[in-house]
Amino acid sequence: MSAASRSARPLRIVIIGAGMAGILSAIKLREAGFDDFVLYEKAARLGGTWRENTYPGIACDVPAHLYTYSFEPNPDWSHVFAPGDEIQRYFERVADKYGVTASIRCGVEVQRCEFIEGRWQLHLGNGATDTADIVIAASGVLHHPNLPDIPGLDCFGGASFHSAQWDHAVPLDGRRVGVIGTGSTAIQITSALAARVARFTLFQRTAQWIAPIENPPYSAEERAAFARDPSLIEKLRRDIDKAAIEKISNAVIDAESPEMKKIEAMCRANLERHVHDPVLREKLRPNYRAACKRLIFSSDFYTAIQHPNAELVTDAMERVEAGGVRTRDGRLHELDVLVLATGFRADRFIRPTVVRGRHGVVLDDVWADHPTAYLSLSVPGFPNFFLLNGPNGPVGNFSLIQIAELQIGYVLQLMTHIRDGHCREISASAAATRAFDVERIEAAKKSIWATGCKSWYLDRNGVPASWPWTYTRFEDEMSTPKLEAYDLN
Ligand code: NAP
Repeated sequence: MSAASRSARPLRIVIIGAGMAGILSAIKLREAGFDDFVLYEKAARLGGTWRENTYPGIACDVPAHLYTYSFEPNPDWSHVFAPGDEIQRYFERVADKYGVTASIRCGVEVQRCEFIEGRWQLHLGNGATDTADIVIAASGVLHHPNLPDIPGLDCFGGASFHSAQWDHAVPLDGRRVGVIGTGSTAIQITSALAARVARFTLFQRTAQWIAPIENPPYSAEERAAFARDPSLIEKLRRDIDKAAIEKISNAVIDAESPEMKKIEAMCRANLERHVHDPVLREKLRPNYRAACKRLIFSSDFYTAIQHPNAELVTDAMERVEAGGVRTRDGRLHELDVLVLATGFRADRFIRPTVVRGRHGVVLDDVWADHPTAYLSLSVPGFPNFFLLNGPNGPVGNFSLIQIAELQIGYVLQLMTHIRDGHCREISASAAATRAFDVERIEAAKKSIWATGCKSWYLDRNGVPASWPWTYTRFEDEMSTPKLEAYDLN
């Protein structure tokens, strides 16, 4: 007899967000026999990060064959690191193939979720309501633009936009383009635009370590071979995965590890070898340890910033004026286009959606000090509410797809207990969540992120918020829920 036909209680599920994790959730729910679900997506189409970010040069710096659902390999990736539009098309194709697209309600924002008499009541932006037994918050991590508070930004006479809200109607060729920021986004934009526009100005507040990484295309023969023999992709995934875990993921959690020292040496050598002008080289040399901020991978940033069209400005920005950006040295950097590649508010998660758990407790209040969740996915007092890529998960140093696949597998196991009638409500216990948080914060002190730089990895208390243990530990934790860590009602 199938699990579904034994079911003690049919469950209705709402998935919030139709990005990588939401689409995955829908596919895996259906596969497990949970057919009654809907995805609410506030934007006009699916895709999450890859729908929002369309800036020139966008690519994923996780190798394409790893940044792919394990059950849906893609022999057609054009490059080792796929461009953003290819990734967007991949998700659209997968959502269609697995029949998810029809379950997505686009343009519908979930504004409020309230746990009332054992079920979640949802209030939607279109005025409608819905009810669910289970809510899966797959609303992403880096999606609330962080806008800089530079005086005069509103007075700029040219075009200005955040990197995640790129205005493609604005011409770039022959224009003077300025970019604020030196994160992964700004570095990719610099590589794409420095030689293309009339004048390119990069406003750097903090220098970045750059790890050199080539991005060769896959040849037609290689792609044909992948299509003929999927085991080749499987082997490639295993090899990349092993290398990434050993060389990066396990390195960053131990600042004194030999692997970390190798990364630092590689970044230093990259700077020495590729930046010729000693003055520029010193401007580009960070005064903190490599990978303390999210490590940047680029084969061409140093070439781009040394292009005759390009200028690196390190004087602090004083204000934005109609004609451009005025720096503290009194100079006006004249611009036609000003791009704010100033990152995201990484502590938002499901917010601004108002989530009220048992007894009307508001998630925003629970997270007033810092967002936290047991194993990054369950919050005490918020039964049958699960976060994918929630707080303190392994963001930044793993493929988020692999993480989300492990998480949804775990959530499905919890849901099966509810469906099969073993309990009606599941949420992490306060004690387990506290113990998890204490241990996590202690472990985070050893990580490279805690070695004295500012980054989006740090919470408001300066504690690294990312998973501070190995990938293997994450896999182990996700393999089977420890039910003693949960309140089961
Ligand atoms: P980010 O890493 O947070 O970088 C934001 C940049 O803006 C920093 O250089 C920051 O300077 C600067 N900034 C912010 N406010 C400023 C202000 N008021 N004045 C001057 N400068 C200001 O953001 P991001 O580049 O968008 O990247 C975010 C994350 O997205 C990455 O770390 C990565 O995980 C992901 N991402 C991945 C890829 C990929 O290829 N997979 C590509 C893009 C992004 P400070 O350093 O001084 O704070």
